[in-house]
Amino acid sequence: MKSGATKGEIDGVVRTVEQLGFRAHVMPGATRTAIGITGNPGMLDPTRFETLDGVFEAIRVSKPYKLITLDLQPDRTVLRVGDATIGSEELAIIAGPCAVESREQTFAVAEAVQSSGARFLRGGAFKPRSSPYDFAGLGEEGLEILAEAREAFGLKIVTEALDAPGVDLVEQYADVIQVGARNMQNFTLLRRVGKSKLPVLLKRGIAATVDEWLLAAEYIMSEGNYQVVLCERGVRTFAQHTRNTLDLGAIPAIRRISHLPIVVDASHAAGKSHLVGPLARAGVAVGADGVMVEVHNNPDAALCDAAQALTPKQYLKMVQEIRGIHRLLADTRDD
Ligand code: PEP
Ligand code: MN
Repeated sequence: MKSGATKGEIDGVVRTVEQLGFRAHVMPGATRTAIGITGNPGMLDPTRFETLDGVFEAIRVSKPYKLITLDLQPDRTVLRVGDATIGSEELAIIAGPCAVESREQTFAVAEAVQSSGARFLRGGAFKPRSSPYDFAGLGEEGLEILAEAREAFGLKIVTEALDAPGVDLVEQYADVIQVGARNMQNFTLLRRVGKSKLPVLLKRGIAATVDEWLLAAEYIMSEGNYQVVLCERGVRTFAQHTRNTLDLGAIPAIRRISHLPIVVDASHAAGKSHLVGPLARAGVAVGADGVMVEVHNNPDAALCDAAQALTPKQYLKMVQEIRGIHRLLADTRDD
């Protein structure tokens, strides 16, 4: 739409699209509103829309994904949770334990997260574990603890849902729904979170290509939820020195294709705490909008991912470093 297009003009285009039997996706941006069209079985003639009031241009997107693309929405998406953002000029920091283990543990970590100036607290109440015998999270009790921490520390809660009933619960307690690496191509779950009012943090699958990952984001958006943040967390390679291989190149590559914000999860890429800081720094240096990181008040006793957990002290040092890199690059970001 033209930058000054009125609500009436936007509604008019939506009506036209719907009368044709297609779906209209209204995506407001900083400078103009884009309206994506999906559900069309074949190519549409752009001139049919270009003549409508308020329309600036009609573009054919000839890629398998549409709504995620900069072609459709040249303004970058800023995920908003109250006054906290991901994808704005501020570096987003999402920190917390791998799993919520107790109120005491969660509050101790939340205190460090708050004191660092980060806005988001992470922590799993539903944990996807490789072994069925490992600690799988506290379930709803874990969500209750996270919701208490939100009130006590003023942090926004990011937490994983493993299935549709889990989404119902996470919606009651949290601010951002995390879809984990193992569920990146769980298409029913993607469609379910696509119907949610909460933003979604979509992790990259363990062996997913960038295109598969972007199509997973497209699934969510195709259902009407445009508040999606991508999270690069490393992919499986032959490397044994790290848990996964952080695909740093994916970040600038995706920033050329998509308006969606991207954060790096340095912890699950690293697997070992001494590698987390360097990978987080690298992620910010290549243009990530934020960092996700696991922190534990007593890593030796962590019930999940102990080896990669940072102590609060290590975490606070890392935050200073990544903020420094982010500030340094603030003027040179090319988009
Ligand atoms: C997590 O963030 O807690 C997690 C399980 O990560 P991933 O899905 O990336 O393995
Ligand atoms: Mn973990």
